Amino acid sequence: MSLISLASFESVWRGYEYYRDYHVIHAAQTEDDSFSGIVSGHGQSYQVYVNTAHPRKSHCNCPHAAGRRTICKHMVALYFCVFPDEAENYYDQVIAAEEEAERLQEKTEKALIRHVRSMTKPELEQALLQLLLEGPEWQYDRFLRENVDEYLE
Ligand SMILES: [Zn+2]
Repeated sequence: MSLISLASFESVWRGYEYYRDYHVIHAAQTEDDSFSGIVSGHGQSYQVYVNTAHPRKSHCNCPHAAGRRTICKHMVALYFCVFPDEAENYYDQVIAAEEEAERLQEKTEKALIRHVRSMTKPELEQALLQLLLEGPEWQYDRFLRENVDEYLE
């Protein structure tokens, strides 16, 4: 398991931002699979050590990771600083996933519009009433305000 795949989605993204925004002040290789560095954040700097062969042996003295076997954003930032190709790969994957989600949303919206246009009047009436009566209150109130004159009297 790589260090990145052991970290939470949030830690990887925040770590990527820290790397991109030059929060890694210092990075050095200490052994074949080991790197140490200093990463700044929230007005402090943290001592970070990353072991790529045994990611769980990595450590950082930030409150999130100190004394725990957690992969924090500082470790991720140091890792990306040492392996910039990995950072680029990660970013490309994020963009690709966002584009895919957007495509899917557009596709779903088109299917929804097609379906609504194919519905009969009684079907539309039933669907609208169901949405209004079972949906959120703001939706109900807004529909009344915009469509039902008696509501204002
Ligand atoms: Zn940390």
